[in-house]
Amino acid sequence: MRTAVVDWARELYEDLDFTAVHRWLAEHPGAKAGGYLPVYVPREILHACGFLPVGIHGGGDRLEIIRGDAFYQSYICHLPRSVIELAQSGRLSMLSAVLFPSTCDVIRNLSGMWKLLYPDVYVRYIDVPQVSQPEAAVAFYETELRHLVNDLGAVSGHAPSDDDLRKSIALYNEMRAVVRELYQTRRERPWDLPTEELYLLLRAGEVAPVEEFIDQARRYLAAVDADRRRPRDNSRVVIGGAFCEQPPLGLIKSIERAGCYVVDDDFVLGTRFLTSEVPLDGDPLEALARAFVYTETRTSVLYERDPQRKRRLMQERVQAAGAEGVIFAAPSFCDPALLDQPMLRNGAEAAGLPCIAFKYSENSGQFQQFREQAGTFADSLKLWAGGPA
Ligand code: SF4
Repeated sequence: MRTAVVDWARELYEDLDFTAVHRWLAEHPGAKAGGYLPVYVPREILHACGFLPVGIHGGGDRLEIIRGDAFYQSYICHLPRSVIELAQSGRLSMLSAVLFPSTCDVIRNLSGMWKLLYPDVYVRYIDVPQVSQPEAAVAFYETELRHLVNDLGAVSGHAPSDDDLRKSIALYNEMRAVVRELYQTRRERPWDLPTEELYLLLRAGEVAPVEEFIDQARRYLAAVDADRRRPRDNSRVVIGGAFCEQPPLGLIKSIERAGCYVVDDDFVLGTRFLTSEVPLDGDPLEALARAFVYTETRTSVLYERDPQRKRRLMQERVQAAGAEGVIFAAPSFCDPALLDQPMLRNGAEAAGLPCIAFKYSENSGQFQQFREQAGTFADSLKLWAGGPA
């Protein structure tokens, strides 16, 4: 059963033609598909308005960039180029709406390009609150969400009631719960739940209907429980920085095969962005806004109220995951990741945590250097076990 679920997930991950989305649209006459860029959007709202939410993560190492390079200078990350390539090749033409969360200036610019290139598609740049007063942030974000519901309802022809929104929130609460269980299981038994498989599942959850994802993830957890494996003498690491442009699968496999158990990471972070259950009583949009503002997730794309928090962050994550070291793996030219990295690394090293860092691009094709670096790091963690001098 494990293989069947992983095969299902791999097929969705590899399919840059979004065949499953087209199939879903054919099976749901009148329904729409709505895309979203990383890192986080409230998918509940797309779902409640009758859209199939579709995560857009670029083409990874499976897409040759022909048209995309014409839209961007060379010294930025790879993601927008490959997203434009997907769009210009017609692969995203089934999307009636595309949401661009305020992750960084690159995503903001991409939203402007979309408006110019595809005037028939509903495009929204979702501003998130970056202020020091949480209650002001809740009020602001709730208003943003109300605009979003009104607009998406107009596009789909289905303005959701509060109960529709609550039903969608309940489903995504369930999704987040199952993802938390996947992460917890991997933390406890990383030899049973390889990150390669977990990552494929998360990526499948970006395009599969939420109900189908929950079902497959539960089947996978049951299969993992029934298929216990022997632990190896690997080192336990946290991978930080890969929250937007995703590393190629080969990079994740290389790190694992080099002797690292990944026990915490930032991959496909939107799936775990809200850390608490969104309440189903009261106003659903206020509940979503509150869950966003008060999330425990700490990431470079969010305003950080406590200036010392970034220095403590990696130590907190390492402790929570029972890890021995940190691998900073960020996309090349990623401002949010790379501007924070010195602060995060400085705090980690001050706490005595061994760290290494490398940069990747979603289309990196050579993994030997990553494998050697991660392998040496894994060995050194074992050699230094008991604490560095
Ligand atoms: S990889 Fe970094 S710079 Fe590029 S779009 Fe994502 S957050 Fe922005």
